[in-house]
Amino acid sequence: MSERIADVLVPVAVDAPYSYRVPAEMRVEPGDLVAVPLGTRREIGVVWPKGGQAPPAAKLKEITEKLDLPPLPLDLVSLIDWTANYTLAPKGMVLRMALRFDTELGDPRARIGVRIKGAKPKRMTEARERVISLLSDGLTRPKAEAAKEAGVSPGVVDGLIAEGTLEAVALPPEPVASPPELDFAEPKLTEEQKHAAEILRAAVRAKNFSVHLLDGVTGSGKTEVYFEAIAEAVRANKQALILLPEIALTGRFLDRFAARFGVRPAEWHSQISPRKRARTWEAVASGEISVVAGARSALFLPFKDLSLIVVDEEHDPAYKQEDGVHYHARDMAVVRAQLKKIPIVLASATPSIETEVNARRERYRRIPLHERFGGNRVPPLSAIDLRKEGPAKGRWIAPQLQKEIGETISRKEQALLFLNRRGYAPLTLCRACGHRLRCPNCDAWLVEHRFKRKLACHHCGHEAPSPDVCPKCGKPDSFTAIGPGVERLEEETRGHFPDARILVLSSDLIGGVERMQAELESITKGEIDIVIGTQLVAKGHHFPGLALVGVIDADLGLGQGDPRAAERTFQLLHQVVGRAGREATDGKGLLQTYQPEHPVMQALIEGDRQAFYDREIAAREETGLPPFGRLASLIVSANEKAAAESYARKLAAIAPYNEGLRLLGPAEAPLALIRGRHRFRLLAKSARMFDLSGYLRDWLSEAPPPRGGVKVTVDVDPQSFL
Ligand code: ADP
Ligand code: ZN
Repeated sequence: MSERIADVLVPVAVDAPYSYRVPAEMRVEPGDLVAVPLGTRREIGVVWPKGGQAPPAAKLKEITEKLDLPPLPLDLVSLIDWTANYTLAPKGMVLRMALRFDTELGDPRARIGVRIKGAKPKRMTEARERVISLLSDGLTRPKAEAAKEAGVSPGVVDGLIAEGTLEAVALPPEPVASPPELDFAEPKLTEEQKHAAEILRAAVRAKNFSVHLLDGVTGSGKTEVYFEAIAEAVRANKQALILLPEIALTGRFLDRFAARFGVRPAEWHSQISPRKRARTWEAVASGEISVVAGARSALFLPFKDLSLIVVDEEHDPAYKQEDGVHYHARDMAVVRAQLKKIPIVLASATPSIETEVNARRERYRRIPLHERFGGNRVPPLSAIDLRKEGPAKGRWIAPQLQKEIGETISRKEQALLFLNRRGYAPLTLCRACGHRLRCPNCDAWLVEHRFKRKLACHHCGHEAPSPDVCPKCGKPDSFTAIGPGVERLEEETRGHFPDARILVLSSDLIGGVERMQAELESITKGEIDIVIGTQLVAKGHHFPGLALVGVIDADLGLGQGDPRAAERTFQLLHQVVGRAGREATDGKGLLQTYQPEHPVMQALIEGDRQAFYDREIAAREETGLPPFGRLASLIVSANEKAAAESYARKLAAIAPYNEGLRLLGPAEAPLALIRGRHRFRLLAKSARMFDLSGYLRDWLSEAPPPRGGVKVTVDVDPQSFL
């Protein structure tokens, strides 16, 4: 009776589903969520299409329960198979990304509200007073909100419930998202935008797999255009997904969506509360939610009827997950679109080389937007040659940039100084003996953070107070900061412009996403004169008053033996300069560089994107780098250097010969030590059509099991070469 056996994939590190007996009265289909015994535990798993490894039938355990949740759609089941196969991650771990909510859900709908019920408590405190005064209007408020609004801890509210002053009542479930109103604020599109929107709407109506590159200069209205494709999907009662690279961006994005559709879309990222996660997951699966905007993990949501995917800023490196399952959300989004036979829109002003090549070969349809909305120019860029017109020693703002900043803020416009380096100084050195402060766990310098009064390692998070004496030569107060970080740049800027309102925006400032969003808002409102920021400010923001962008160290990303360095630098600098002159006035960009003749700088200065792509594509083709060839990196790490090295050598020695593949290494990884683990790297390089994942799988299956804490991390299509 084979039909009474089901294969169930559980979200743990396994490669294949296990077989279970289906109880007589139960009916299950692939995609259904079930509870199963696993060892001594109970796990939530998903019924998988046939293909599991069935142990002898006599030993089969029984499915405990079929859960009252909507099933995973089959395109998601296929996507999980596909992703696991491609990335070599255990299939159960990929499934886990699709079940990202507490499996012991409890009741996701239960919410507690409080309202006034009885007399004032005997013992009155100031905190209690505040709660009572807040609730004195007789309304019911969610408990957590009441505490927050009154500025007290939830315990104070509980105390008042216990005293009988307040009563707790059950609240209806929090709505996760209301349906978008399609005609809430229809924009008047320009001719060019109209044309682009019509192509995308037609693609949604066609209900076929197609890939569109929405290729528009910064500020051309790409968002406005793809919103019309979303509207088309919603009009047909179907669902749409918008992927965004940064959580910090979602707040503003949700508001923008609301300005067009009257309501915010559902959001999905790591910062939403467990209860909201569970509710959102279910509402996406049941079809109650029509539009989700989220970070890369939203790609694995169980959309009941997905009809469109948009990947905004498709070139952004944040789409690559660098731990756990090493997947690229843009690439897997294209896979999901293909499996579900729906259109996908990739939007960017600086497409990735991969996407650009696909567009040139007409595998992707390019939809260009040439003009900035409102007729502003894309800001002209010029270089400041640091060899000739650089700042004085120990300073980082060249005289010309300083002058331009002064002129900009005196016109009541904003300036942005971009430096992709957190902290005060990247290196701290003893003036007496030259000793450099290193991280004890990593092959890296400690970075001084004056704001936090600490030295910190940006790789492992190790923190230490600045030492009073040099640990090597014992000289007191001998340390000196070498090079600039954003904090040091702020110090210099304050010196030049003591009256200006200056804001530093960097991911390690205290306050998290909420503070960041408040700060972005204050820039938008014009409450800041000079913004100093890391790459966080480069992405997607729309600051109406921003007129000048100064790049402090344009060379920073170049030449670290990383095959993507040129591409990244070009994209990042183009994006950051694209923040200028989007509304009020024409903008301007200044690049401080030691190599103004470098092709990346030349392409930026000339505004010649084409030249950059032509050159970079030719170089990749010549060297067989992606997308003309394929790469996979294997990092072998261990606490003992010798253990890592010898296992890496063993792996290399047993690699099957194949003329389509070249193996480089093992060699010490550029970051040879992270978190106390020594790292060796093997790089597999193949032709484009080669089945690299299959090769790696065969190879690793022959490898002896790693011992002594040795770990092998496989990264197919690596983005990072550290
Ligand atoms: P991009 O994503 O291409 O950089 P955006 O979509 O952010 O550009 O658009 C830039 C600015 O121009 C935004 O403030 C947007 O609201 C505005 N905008 C673009 N197109 C229109 C339009 N047709 N009508 C009104 N405002 C528009
Ligand atoms: Zn470290």
